[in-house]
Amino acid sequence: MKNIVLFGPPGSGKGTQAEVLKEKYNLVHISTGDVFRYNIKNKTDLGKLAKSYMDKGDLVPDEVTINMLKAEVEKNKDVNGFIFDGFPRTESQAKALDLFLTEKKMPINGMVALEVAEDLLIKRLLNRGKTSGRTDDQDESKIRNRFNEYETKTAILKHYYENQDKYYGVDGVGSIGEITERLSVVFDKL
Ligand code: AMP
Repeated sequence: MKNIVLFGPPGSGKGTQAEVLKEKYNLVHISTGDVFRYNIKNKTDLGKLAKSYMDKGDLVPDEVTINMLKAEVEKNKDVNGFIFDGFPRTESQAKALDLFLTEKKMPINGMVALEVAEDLLIKRLLNRGKTSGRTDDQDESKIRNRFNEYETKTAILKHYYENQDKYYGVDGVGSIGEITERLSVVFDKL
């Protein structure tokens, strides 16, 4: 099995690349942001709760997010592996994921990170906001808050996976095809 955490700050291209790589490697793509947006659209209780955080650019609480992620994994039996996109985003999510996947004897093979400078990311997100319909992409203060959440709670996960010898950084600047090639070099090894 190949279980890969696709990592990087907001706007680094995780979702775009995951869509390509899931086809190429026959993996299941789980984006926690997409699952939350689906729940918001369908006005579920989970969606209402998530919306109150997402609208501000805050992280949704760990317990809610972890339970949702586990349920998504359980929905997919007998698969080649998973691309986790937007999860984990805190150390306690990373620990919960390790415990959960180790118990299932399908540990994480690696964290593959898209590395992009912040000023470029803000431009990309504002641009995406023109067509994505995502309110959290349309307001610079919300974007800044998402970066703040990333810097204070998520960026440390690089060290978490480095300590397990599972961190692989990839230059996230270039065309979609170029970046897929760079990611594929790592995916092939994992
Ligand atoms: P994304 O689509 O990954 O940019 O996520 C959009 C928003 O969904 C984030 O700003 C958070 O509010 C929420 N979210 C997505 N994944 C997580 C997660 N793993 N933990 C907490 N909140 C999350």
